[in-house]
Amino acid sequence: MTVATRNTLEENVNVYFDRAAGLTTHPAGLLEQIRACNTVCSFQFPVRHPDGRIEVVRAWRAEHSHHRLPTKGGIRYSADVDESEVKALAALMTYKCAVVDVPFGGAKGAVQVDPHTCSPEYLEHVTRRYVHELVKKNFIGPGIDVPAPDAGTGEREMAWVVDTYMALNPGQLEAMACVTGKPVSQGGIRGRKEATGRGLVYALAEACSQAEDMHARGLSVGVDGKRVVVQGIGNVGYHAAKFCRERGARVVAFAVPEGAIWDPQGLDEDAVVEHRRRTGSVLGFPGATSILRSADALELDCDVLVPAALENQLTGDNAPRIKATIVLEGANGPTTPDADEVFRTKGTLVIPDIYANAGGVVVSYFEWLKNLSHVRFGRLARRHQAASERRLLTAVEQATGKPFTAADRVTFVQAPDELGIVTSGLEETMATAYQEIRETLRQQPAAQDLRTAAFLNAINKVARAYLELGIFP
Ligand code: GLU
Repeated sequence: MTVATRNTLEENVNVYFDRAAGLTTHPAGLLEQIRACNTVCSFQFPVRHPDGRIEVVRAWRAEHSHHRLPTKGGIRYSADVDESEVKALAALMTYKCAVVDVPFGGAKGAVQVDPHTCSPEYLEHVTRRYVHELVKKNFIGPGIDVPAPDAGTGEREMAWVVDTYMALNPGQLEAMACVTGKPVSQGGIRGRKEATGRGLVYALAEACSQAEDMHARGLSVGVDGKRVVVQGIGNVGYHAAKFCRERGARVVAFAVPEGAIWDPQGLDEDAVVEHRRRTGSVLGFPGATSILRSADALELDCDVLVPAALENQLTGDNAPRIKATIVLEGANGPTTPDADEVFRTKGTLVIPDIYANAGGVVVSYFEWLKNLSHVRFGRLARRHQAASERRLLTAVEQATGKPFTAADRVTFVQAPDELGIVTSGLEETMATAYQEIRETLRQQPAAQDLRTAAFLNAINKVARAYLELGIFP
């Protein structure tokens, strides 16, 4: 009997890279340089448990590409993360930043801990110790390498990161920009927490606005009315569901590790989260059908499937049974190359991770800019802009002799605050990048799908950075 071995995420990312690279005319050496992970720092440190036991914790930081600095990417806390996975995730960050024109190289960090079973005190200790190691090794800094949240970490951990970094670098003016995804009170930016989910829905909206692509798949134009299945109800899955619902879509199922729930009438993400907090499980959610095998929910009848949990969820095994017409990749690497092949054959529209889930790093970039400029977006110009808009309305009233109503004035005078600026910047970025990818696919039909077109764009942008340096003639 032959045992089927599943490819690693690193191998899968390289398959996608090679597929796109084969459509370029770049020299082999340049492609090899872009594909390879530049530096990996692997280390371990001892941590004392509250019960007195000493545990040796393994950790990594991989900087995949230095063609732009700083390098950027989250820190993952997971019991079964390994070096190969960190390198693959760092590579995805390089391509992701390039696709959405965020001027950073790609990186990723990881600590081999289970954040769900450790106490906050232990996690704080581990986080601070991890940052000490990164500082010692010059693997963190506003112009060097800037971490952010990833699976298993969030605002709380980023607050510990910035606090530790600042303590070790007293007086460094840009120190706040050493990490993103911080709480707003600790130098974070409004809109970062929900950015990946919001970006996903902007990506979906852009895809669904292409009448030709929708009609070709028997779908109506727009997000409104689409039936969505979401895998994961962490930060990304929760916000993707929320913004889908706010745009008129119906989230008909959530799939999480303990099982799934299905309600064709649509589920409210807040009510589901509250039920899970209270009972410890999504199962038994009132009015919904409980599905014991979580993976079965991915095969439910729906228009959009959003894998927003971990890698390798859509495989050659389950892809033929997946009914969704659109796959919107919220996680990094959720689709294996053999599943991708199935989707290509079926005509499923796969909106690839390196574009779809880039909202997080886009808003991280805005946070980094805010930290470097030491001023909140909108602070200087907001009142000035509102006053000039009001003056314009008055001039129109005088010219036409017709006064605006108070409601009109509220609608027309909309000088945005920080959140407004962040969300419009994110929307603009996601819309522009989608058009760029679609245009590449139009010009190079051999790419065949959005993922290959997105990889092509990324490779060409990184290649240009090297070629401009004159390194590769
Ligand atoms: N961890 C997130 C990602 O995979 C965000 C990275 C960042 O903001 O630097 O895209």
